[in-house]
Amino acid sequence: MKIRTRFAPSPTGLLHIGGARTALYSWLFAKRHKGSFILRIEDTDVKRSSSKAIKSITEGLIWLGIKWDEGPFFQVDKLSYYQRIIKSMILNKMAYKCYCSKERLEVLRKSKMLKKEKPKYDRRCRKIKQLYEDNRSYVVRFCNPLEGSVIVDDQIKGKIIFQNKELDDLIIQRVDGMPTYNFCVVIDDRDMKISHIIRGEDHINNTPRQINILKSLGADIPVYAHLPLIVDKKGKKISKRDNLIDIIEYSKKGFLPDSLVNYMLRLGWSNGDKEIFSIEEVKKIFNLKDISTSSSTFDIEKLSWYNRFYIRNASVDYLEDILKKQFSIMKVNLDNNPRLKDLIQFLRFRFDTIKDMALACSFFYEEHIVIKNIYKKYFFVNTKEILLYFFKKINSVKKWNVKEISLISKKILEKFKINFKDLAIPLRIILIGKDSSFPINVIVFLLGRKKVSLRIKKGLELIN
Ligand code: GLU
Ligand code: ZN
Repeated sequence: MKIRTRFAPSPTGLLHIGGARTALYSWLFAKRHKGSFILRIEDTDVKRSSSKAIKSITEGLIWLGIKWDEGPFFQVDKLSYYQRIIKSMILNKMAYKCYCSKERLEVLRKSKMLKKEKPKYDRRCRKIKQLYEDNRSYVVRFCNPLEGSVIVDDQIKGKIIFQNKELDDLIIQRVDGMPTYNFCVVIDDRDMKISHIIRGEDHINNTPRQINILKSLGADIPVYAHLPLIVDKKGKKISKRDNLIDIIEYSKKGFLPDSLVNYMLRLGWSNGDKEIFSIEEVKKIFNLKDISTSSSTFDIEKLSWYNRFYIRNASVDYLEDILKKQFSIMKVNLDNNPRLKDLIQFLRFRFDTIKDMALACSFFYEEHIVIKNIYKKYFFVNTKEILLYFFKKINSVKKWNVKEISLISKKILEKFKINFKDLAIPLRIILIGKDSSFPINVIVFLLGRKKVSLRIKKGLELIN
C-alpha cells in the first residue's frame, strides 16, 4: 500500500503550534514510508475562512520545512462536484432532504433535553420521505445506519467502539447548498487515496460518522491516528480560538525552524531519552507507536533550550542568513564592521534567540556613540594615557585577531600596573557608549581596526 497522508486545515485561524505539530507528524509519517504528503485547505465554511489564515498556513509550513508533495487543494474549487455526489446519494437513498424548520428542530431539542436524552434529530424526514416540489428550503442529511457499531482502531488511542444508534443523521449539505466539512473531508480522503489520517483528537467523534459515509460509498477505510492535545501550563487546551501566536511569529522572534521542529517532534513523540533529532534522522525512524497517549504541555522554556542548542550548533552560513534578515527588519545598516560571520563565531553562545542577538549587537553598527557623563565615574588620572597607548598598539599590530588584541591588553595591565577593569571599562565606554557588554577584546576585534581607532580618537577629544 502506498502511504499517503494529508494536512487538512480549515483556514479559520492562523497556523498555531497544534496544527503545525499535526502537519509535522503527518509529513514525517509519509516520509518515513516513502509516501506522499498532501496539503488540503478545507475552506467550505466560507464565512469563517480567510486568505490571511491560508497565508499563515502555507508560509508557516514552508518556514518549518514541511514540504507538501501535492496541493494545496482548495475545497471551494469543487463545490459542484460535492453537490453532484450528494444528489446521487439522495437518488440512491443514502441521503435525504430534511425540510424541518429551525423552529421545529429547536422545539425537538428542548423536549429531548428535558427528558435528559441526547438532542438528536428524530429522523422525521427520513421516515416520511416528503418530496416538495415548491422552493421550500432543506438541508441534506446522511442516512446513518440505525443499528450496529463502528469500530475505530486508532493507532494512538487504541480501539474505540461507537454505537450507531448514538449517532445522528449528519447534515451533509446546508440550507444554502454548501456541502459540510464532514462530507467534503470524506470525499477528499477517498479521492486522494489517503491511507492514514493523522489529526487532532478533537476529531475523534467525527470519525465514526466519516467511516459510515465512506462505507456507504464503498470506499476503503483509512487508518486513523488521533493526536492528544497540547495544553498550556494550567492544563487548558491550546486552540486556534485562544488567538495563539501564528507559527511565523516564532521566526520573527528569532527562533530557528530547526528548534521549533525538534521541539514539536518531542512534544508528543519520543525515542528513548533522546532530545536532539535531525530531520533526516527522524524521517527514518518516526512512527505512530511512540506518540504519547496523553496530552503534552507547551513550554516556552524548553523551546528556548532547543533554540540555544541550534544557535550554537547551526552552520555559520545558515545563521548569517537569518541574522541578516533580522537586522534588515530592524533597519540596521550592515555596510561596516563587524562581519556577521565574526559576530556569529564569537557571540552566538550568549543568546536564546537570533532577535536577542541582533538587538544586543546593533550598537556595533551605530555610528554616533554618545558618551554620556558616565565616563567621569570610571576615568581616572592616567586613563587618557592608557587609551592613547592602546590606540598606538592596535594600529601597529600585524595580525588583527582576538589573540593579538588580548596580548596588547595584557601588556597594558603590566605596564600601567592596573586591574583589568581599569582598562576594560573606559575602553568600552569610549568604543560603544556603555560600560557593560561582551568581552572587551572581542568587541575591539569585531569593530575592526578602523572603527576602534576612530572612536578612541573621537572619545579622547570629547574627554579633553
Ligand atoms: N479541517 C479540519 C480542521 O481544521 C481537519 C480535518 C481533518 O483533519 O480531518 O479542524
Ligand atoms: Zn426533517
